[in-house]
Amino acid sequence: MKPRETRVPWRAGALVLLSTCSPLLAADFQAGVARVKITPPTPSWMSGYAARTHPSEGVEQELWAKALAVRDPRGHQVVLVTTDLIGLPRSISDEVAARVQAQFRVERPQLVLSASHTHCGPAVRKNLAVLYDFSEDDRRRVDTYGAELVDRLVEVVGRALQDLAPARLWVGHGAVGFAVNRREPTPEGVKIGVNPKGPVDHDVPVLKVTGKDGSLRAVLFGYACHNTTLGGDFYRIGGDYAGYAQAELEKAHPGATALFMMLCGGDQNPNPRGTLDLVARHGRALAGEVGRVLGTALLPVRPPIRTALEVVPLDFAPHTRAVFEQEVTSEDRFRQRRARLMLAAYDAGQPPRQTPYPVQAVRFGRDLTLLALGGEPVVDYALRLKRELPGENLIVAGYCHDVMCYIPSRRVLQEGGYEAVDNMIYYGQPGPFAEAVEKTIFAAVRHVTGAVGLRASPASGANATGSSRSRR
Ligand SMILES: [Zn+2]
Repeated sequence: MKPRETRVPWRAGALVLLSTCSPLLAADFQAGVARVKITPPTPSWMSGYAARTHPSEGVEQELWAKALAVRDPRGHQVVLVTTDLIGLPRSISDEVAARVQAQFRVERPQLVLSASHTHCGPAVRKNLAVLYDFSEDDRRRVDTYGAELVDRLVEVVGRALQDLAPARLWVGHGAVGFAVNRREPTPEGVKIGVNPKGPVDHDVPVLKVTGKDGSLRAVLFGYACHNTTLGGDFYRIGGDYAGYAQAELEKAHPGATALFMMLCGGDQNPNPRGTLDLVARHGRALAGEVGRVLGTALLPVRPPIRTALEVVPLDFAPHTRAVFEQEVTSEDRFRQRRARLMLAAYDAGQPPRQTPYPVQAVRFGRDLTLLALGGEPVVDYALRLKRELPGENLIVAGYCHDVMCYIPSRRVLQEGGYEAVDNMIYYGQPGPFAEAVEKTIFAAVRHVTGAVGLRASPASGANATGSSRSRR
C-alpha cells in the first residue's frame, strides 16, 4: 500500500471517502428517476474520432442525462447518473459534485457520474482537446455547452431526488456477444482491428427498480464495448448502440427509464461495425437481452447502501523535455499539439508526472457491488475483479467521474499499442503509464471494497486498512 501522503486529493480537500455501516434491514428502498435532454445544438463539433473535419450535420438520436437516486431506510443514498457522451472530464464532474453536495447534500462518494462513450456526441470541455484546432467561435460554443451540461446534470440529480418513492431493487445478469477484443497482434505490433482470441466480457448486468405496485420504474444495465458502431465518417448526433438499446427498452416498457453504463470496454469494439443498421442490430440485441433478464426470477437487492471513493495518483513513465522538443517537429498534427501542451507545461515548471484516478465502490447489502472506475479501463480489470471476488454480484464500470485517458492493464501496457501508448497523444497526456498502474488501481480497489464491507479474496494478497480514511 502506498503511503497516504502520495494520494492526490480529488479537489482541494483531503482524500474523499465515505462509508456508512448499519445492520441489514429487510425494508424497501426509496428510488427516484429523472431525465434531461443534453443534445447539443447542431452544428457542433463531435468527439471520439481524430478523422472528423467539420461539425455535426443534424441529429440521429437525442442524447440524455438520466439519474437514478436510491435511498435506504437509514437515509444512506446513492445517485447514479448516466450520460450519452464521450466522457466527462474532471472539470465537469467536480463542478457538478460540488453543486450537488451544496444543494442536495449528496456527498461525493454517493454520486456516480458516468458516460456511455458514444463517438457521435459533442466535444465535452477539454476532454480529448488535442483532436481539435478550434476557432474562437468553436471554443465559445464548446464552453457554452460545457456550462449548460453542468446545469443539466445538477438538475437531473435534483429531479431524481424529488421523485423518491417506495421501491424495490432486483439484480440479474445476461450476456450478448457483439463485443470483440480489438487489439489485433500484427508483425508491426498491436493494431486496432479484430482479435477473436483476445479477452472479452460479455456480461450484461441488469438492475431492476420497481414501484410499490410492482411496475417497472427504471432499469440500469451495462456492457463492456465501445459505442463505436459508427465511424468517423458519420456526422449525425446520436448514442450509438447504447442510445438505441435505451430507447428500445423505454419503448417496450412505457413509463420506465432505461440507463446505460459503459463497463470496462477500453479494448472492446462492436463487431461488425460501420452502419446505422448495425447500430440497430446491436442495440436490439442488447435491449432484447435486458428485457429477457427483466422477465426472469431476479435476486432481491437489500439495504444498506454503502459508498466509498478514493482518488489515487497514477504515475506516468518518466519523460524529458527533449522528447517533446523532438515531437513538436513531427508531421503529425496531433503529436505536434500534444508536444506543444507538454512544452508549455515544462515552461511553467509543471510537467505532468501523475494523473489523479477515481476508484469508487457502491454496495447494496450483500447483494450487489458497483465498482465505478475512471478513464477507459481495458477488460482485464473487470475479469480480474470477478476472479478475485468470486460469488460477489459485481458491476464493474469504467468511464466514471473523469475520462482522462485509457487505463491499460500491466499486460496491455507491456504489449503496447493504442490503449497503452498512442491514446495518450489525443488525451493530451505525456505518454504511457509507469508499470505499476494496475497494481496502484487494485490497491485502491481493495481500500474502497474494504470500506463497503467486501472482503478481498486471499488470492488478491493485500491487506486494505481503513485506519487512515475518514468515515461518515
Ligand atoms: Zn475509447
